[in-house]
Amino acid sequence: MSGRLAGKVAIVTGSGSGIGQAIAIRFASEGASVVVDYRNHLDQAQETASKAEAAGGKAILVKADVSNLADTQNLVDQAYAQLGRCDILVNNAGIEKSAAFWDVTEADYDTVLDINLKGAFFLTQAFVRRLRDAKQPGRVINTSSVHEDMVFPNFSTYCASKGGMRMLMRDLAVELGPLNITVNNIAPGAIATPINTKMMANKSQLEALLANIPLGRMGTPEDVAGVALFLASDDGAYVTGSTYFVDGGLIRNYHEQ
Ligand code: NAP
Repeated sequence: MSGRLAGKVAIVTGSGSGIGQAIAIRFASEGASVVVDYRNHLDQAQETASKAEAAGGKAILVKADVSNLADTQNLVDQAYAQLGRCDILVNNAGIEKSAAFWDVTEADYDTVLDINLKGAFFLTQAFVRRLRDAKQPGRVINTSSVHEDMVFPNFSTYCASKGGMRMLMRDLAVELGPLNITVNNIAPGAIATPINTKMMANKSQLEALLANIPLGRMGTPEDVAGVALFLASDDGAYVTGSTYFVDGGLIRNYHEQ
C-alpha cells in the first residue's frame, strides 16, 4: 500500500464519530492501519472501520474507556498484538459538560478531567514506553480545543482539561524530543460533530457563532483530519511543541454575547 502513512500504525481514540472518525479514515486512505477505539457505540466504530478499509487501509476495533488505565494499556497492547507495531497516537476522545462554576459537582469534574486529560496522559505514557523500549520514533497528536487558550464561560471543567493538555503537550515535546517522538496539539474551533448537536439546532446561537468566525462557516471533521495527517506524516517530522488552530480564525475574533 502506498501513501503518506504507508506501513504505519495509528491509534485514534474516540474514533467512532466526529473528528476521530475523520482522522481514522484519512489516515487509512494514506496507507495506515488504524486502531479504532470506542467506548459505547460498537456500531459507530464498525462504520469507521469499514470506511477506513474502503479508503484502502486496515482497521481493528478495540473497546477502551480512555479514563481507565487498564483499558489504555490494552489499547497499546492490542495494536502490537494485532498489527505488530504502533507509530502514531491521536488522543482525540473528549467530552464537555456545561455548568456555572458554582454548580460544578465533583463527579462532573472527575468525569471531564479523567477523560480529556488523565486519559491522554496515561495512554501517551503507555504508548511512549513501548517506543522507548524498542528505540523507535513516534508521533503524539492531541485533539485539544481553542479552549486550551480561549475562555468558555460555564465550561470551566472543559477549559481546565484542555488548558492542561496544552501544558502537557509542551512538556512532553521537550521530554520526548530526544527519543524522536514529536508531540503537538490540534485546537479545533467550532466543528460540525455530534458534540455540537444542541448548539447547531439553536438558530440564534448558531448565527452568533458564525458571525464570530472570519471564514464564515463551521469546520468539518475533514478540515481537522488534514492537519492531523500533516503532523503524522514525514512533512511534520520537524514540528513539535506546537498547537495548530483549526478554527476559521475564531480565536482571533471571538466576542462573548
Ligand atoms: P464526538 O463526535 O462527540 O466524539 C467524541 C468521541 O469521544 C466519541 O466517539 C466518544 O465515544 C468518545 N469518547 C468519549 N469519552 C470516551 C472515553 N472515556 N473513552 C473512549 N472514548 C470516549 O465529538 P468531536 O467533536 O468529534 O470531539 C472529538 C474531540 O474534539 C474532543 O476531544 C473534543 O473536545 C474536541 N473538540 C471538538 C470541537 C468541536 O467543535 N466539535 C472543538 C474543539 C475540540 P462514545 O460515543 O462511545 O462515548
